[in-house]
Amino acid sequence: MGVTLDLSRAPKTDAAPPPAAKPNLSGLTRDQLRAALVETGVVPEDKARMRASQIWRWIHHHGVTDFAQMTNVAKEAQAALAEAFTLARPEIVERQVSKDGTRKWLVRFAPGIEAETVYIPDVGRAGALCVSSQVGCTLNCSFCHTGTQTLVRNLTAAEIVAQVQVCRDDLEEWPSDKEDRRLSNIVFMGMGEPLYNLDNVADAIEIISDNEGVALSRRRITVSTSGVVPQLDPLGKRTAAMLAISLHATNDDLRNELVPLNKKYPLEQLMAGIRAYPGLSNARRVTFEYVMLKGVNDSPAEAKALVQLLKGIPAKINLIPFNPWPGTKYECSDWPTIERFAAVLNRAGYASPIRTPRGRDILAACGQLKSESEKIRASALRAMVQVD
Ligand code: SAH
Ligand code: SF4
Repeated sequence: MGVTLDLSRAPKTDAAPPPAAKPNLSGLTRDQLRAALVETGVVPEDKARMRASQIWRWIHHHGVTDFAQMTNVAKEAQAALAEAFTLARPEIVERQVSKDGTRKWLVRFAPGIEAETVYIPDVGRAGALCVSSQVGCTLNCSFCHTGTQTLVRNLTAAEIVAQVQVCRDDLEEWPSDKEDRRLSNIVFMGMGEPLYNLDNVADAIEIISDNEGVALSRRRITVSTSGVVPQLDPLGKRTAAMLAISLHATNDDLRNELVPLNKKYPLEQLMAGIRAYPGLSNARRVTFEYVMLKGVNDSPAEAKALVQLLKGIPAKINLIPFNPWPGTKYECSDWPTIERFAAVLNRAGYASPIRTPRGRDILAACGQLKSESEKIRASALRAMVQVD
């Protein structure tokens, strides 16, 4: 997943300030929606629950973007809604489709605030959407190009939900149907650290998992973190989402270097936090992401250390071939080394942990059109996303 920060398109400081944006109803939870309808006087208090339910279905089941499409809402109420709120989608700056079916959208939320959202089809009709939670990242993982960009801002719940809506628009998956969907899983593995934006991430998960809307089961929503230990429990309690941990090393010295957040929350604390993650079981395993860096973390001894470290934790392992970027000191491990590493894990009972990159053809095109960093981040994503 990548993000473009094209500040040349940001409004000039001497230009008139843009009119205050109307709140987008897509980013409100049911309770917030009800409160917003009452607060703005669009709906009287005693009708709020029923009206909110109707409007909710139009937004999240039917995917409408225009209040005039809400045929069971009176014309005057439609006009009042349009006056106070919006349902507009963000602008899609670019759309690409790979030969293997991978789709990628570059979405502009506001001037200079852009992120890529990637849909990765799996076998059959299922597929995962990889969403971003922040524009930029405050954590400087040494192998991650995103880490070299400063944080621009957290994405709002509406902007996170919008990534799902954009994908469903494109896949023509409205109205929501529970069976046989192509968008079957969501992974927060795009740009940013989701646990530094937990309020918005939790609201977005509440919205997209609601049964009368997009209705994605929380078991099909995975949040990836570099290890913000104090937020693991709140994440589990608030969202019941599946957990993925960007581990990448099995000892503190190396992890301090690769994932500097480890200095704050070292492995012992991290592993304890993971063991205590609410709802963990063999049916709800933690995914451990492990990027394969040549000569850094890819020895058979480290594979054995990984098995030791994960002992007793219901876990899946995702080996990610490193995607190099200009100026990085790291290289991707050789294929035989990755296979040797995977073989140790296989022997310990972890099945097929290597993620093969997807959608290479559009990555090349993407590289021509946008920054090198985006190309690399998007390929990293494809390599690691897994659909269950
Ligand atoms: N910030 C969160 C989620 C986004 S990053 C996190 O770190 O978990 C998603 C995954 O991409 C993480 O596992 C991250 O370690 C991995 N990643 C980042 N840069 C990469 C690269 N150049 N090659 C392969 N994987 C990379
Ligand atoms: Fe941020 Fe994740 Fe990249 Fe680390 S790996 S810099 S936490 S996006």
